[in-house]
Order: sequence, then structure tokens, then C-alpha cells
Amino acid sequence: MDNKNKTTPVSTLGEFGLIEHLTKNIELKNPQTIKGIGDDAAVLEYRGKQIVVTTDLLVEGIHFNLMYVPMRHLGYKSVMVNLSDVFAMNAYPRQITVSLAISGKFSVESLEELYKGFQMACDKYNVDLIGGDTTSSMTGLLISVTAIGEVEKGKAVYRSGAKVNDLICVSGDLGGAYMGLQLLERENEVFKIDPKMQPQFQGYDYILGRQLKPEARGDVIEALKSLNIQPTAMIDISDGLSSELMHICKASKVGCHVYEEKIPLDFQTKKFAEELHINPLVAALNGGEDYELLFTVPLADHDKVKNDPDITVIGHIVDAAEGVKLISALEGKAIPLQAQGWNPLKK
Ligand code: ADP
Ligand code: MG
Repeated sequence: MDNKNKTTPVSTLGEFGLIEHLTKNIELKNPQTIKGIGDDAAVLEYRGKQIVVTTDLLVEGIHFNLMYVPMRHLGYKSVMVNLSDVFAMNAYPRQITVSLAISGKFSVESLEELYKGFQMACDKYNVDLIGGDTTSSMTGLLISVTAIGEVEKGKAVYRSGAKVNDLICVSGDLGGAYMGLQLLERENEVFKIDPKMQPQFQGYDYILGRQLKPEARGDVIEALKSLNIQPTAMIDISDGLSSELMHICKASKVGCHVYEEKIPLDFQTKKFAEELHINPLVAALNGGEDYELLFTVPLADHDKVKNDPDITVIGHIVDAAEGVKLISALEGKAIPLQAQGWNPLKK
């Protein structure tokens, strides 16, 4: 049998499986590399100073649709996506680089708008834009942002530190960005049929903002610091709660119980989900792009987190053998969670 020409479709592995497969033989050579592949950012150490580095690539038609995403918002969001990964390490962002691949359809003016978005983000988060690269593309716009941040030695928080009995906490509310996307998609479909129709966005400003103008939760990192809480594990919610819980549990070699009724959902998220006859919980678990922080804290910190209106305790860490489970509100049934998040590489 000739297996030489046999090829494996990427879809058999999915995004996470592919990364794992391609990088499993990569070894770290330098003592300055404290953490390589496998977290929200890499951690480097130079003369007692720890630096985090993270990068994200956004592709037109995959991550954004320019039919309804203004260039300025796109610029802002491209930076947020990266700052969110820096904060997820309990680090503070300091610099970014921005690389672009541009097709012929873009004007100087539209790219100026993109840069206004980059700059607004940099100004708001006190970050310097220090370089990048520019090239052409056959297929539309590609934006790659790399962020560099700083963290006090011993303070970096990994995905791998969660311990049995730790409380699982989440900032803000979930599912809004996904519902905002559904709203934009719906109005875009209407527009494609009749360009004279005005989009119907009334009453949904919050979920629209969640999709178009997310904020990385540096304020939560500050709040935890002032509450004197060092999370045991942390990740940002870019792919949906399910997938991020799986990442923390896998890296920490633990399981979790998360309670359905505890998952924070905004009124508009619930209202629009009802309008579309979908369960808002699905948006929170599998929607993604909320850019909230998911973290675990020792049980002893319960009193510190319970009074923060922006932090919700949604469950606790259990033994690995118990699995990664959602406890349903109705009968208290434990449902195993699956990482169905933003995973365009898996069928
Ligand atoms: P996030 O959603 O936080 O951006 P990812 O799921 O994209 O994280 O990546 C998980 C880990 O895999 C990170 O450490 C990231 O740097 C690494 N990674 C992703 N893609 C590649 C790649 N093509 N080669 C090497 N490492 C990668
Ligand atoms: Mg991340």
C-alpha cells in the first residue's frame, strides 16, 4: 500500500488540535523563555524583568465583514483582541506592532480610518505603536497585531494554575458580542435585498457595542490587584466560555462545575436571543468575542470577590475525573461541556 501521497485534511484536527500537532516537537532553547506556546501570551525574562508577547491575525471574510464593520472600529478591535491576551496574563500592555496586507480595493482614506482606530486604542490604554509591516494581498485585508506587556516577576497568571476547590469567576457579562453579530448579520441580509431599508438597531446599542467596540479588561486586572487577589489561573474569553473552561481545566489538569443560572447575561443579550428563538446560554458558552476574563481564585478569596458588581462567581474547580460540566438550572443535571467555540478549522 502506498501511503506516501496520503494527505490529512486540517479539518480532522481543528484549530487547537492543529496548533498542538504542529508545535509538539518545539523545544525552548533559551533560559529567558519562561513560557512558550500554550497560553494567552508567551513570558520572557530579562534581568529579573518579565515581558509577555502575544499576537493575533484577523482576516477579512473570516474575522470581520467590511459590509458592516467600520474601519475605525476594526482598528480599535484588532488592538483590543491583543491587549485582552496581555491582561489575561495579569500583565500590563506597553507596545504593539501592526502588520497589514492590503488588496487594491482599499483607499488611503479608509486605511487612515483603520489607523485612527489603532491610535484611539493606544491612547486609551497608554500603549505605543512601535512598528509593523505592510504588504499587498490578493484576497482582502489581513491585520496582524503583536502586543508586548510587562508583568512583575511571580505575578504572571497562567492557564495551568487552577486547583481543586478554587472558585471560577468571570468579569462582565457573556454572549453579548455574539448576539450583536447576529443583529448585524440580520440587518446586512435585509440591506442586501433592499438597500433602501434602514437597519433596525433600536434598543440593542449594548450588544452592538459588544461586537463592534469591545474593551480589554485592564480595569479588572486593576480591581484584582487592589483587592489583593492573585488569581490561580486566567484566560480571556475570545472563543466562548466552554472552550476557555476546557483550556483552563486541561492546562491545570482539573475539572469544573459551572452553574447555568450563575452565568451573567445582559438584558439585551437575552432579549435578542428570545427574538431569534435561540438560548442566550449558547451565545455565552459558544459565541465568543466577549473579551471578558475568566479566572480562578482560592476559596478563601470569596469574601473579596463577592461584592464586586463586575465579577461573578460561576462555579468551582473539581477533580479532573469529574470532567468539565455545566450544572443545569432545572434539574441540577450535569452536562459535559464541549469546546465548540470559534473554530473555523474544524468541520
Ligand atoms: P488565543 O486565543 O489566546 O489568541 P490561541 O488559541 O490562538 O490563543 O493560541 C494558543 C497558543 O498557541 C498560544 O500560545 C499561541 O501563541 C500558540 N500558537 C497559535 N498558533 C500558532 C502557530 N501557528 N505556531 C506556533 N504557535 C502558535
Ligand atoms: Mg487568549
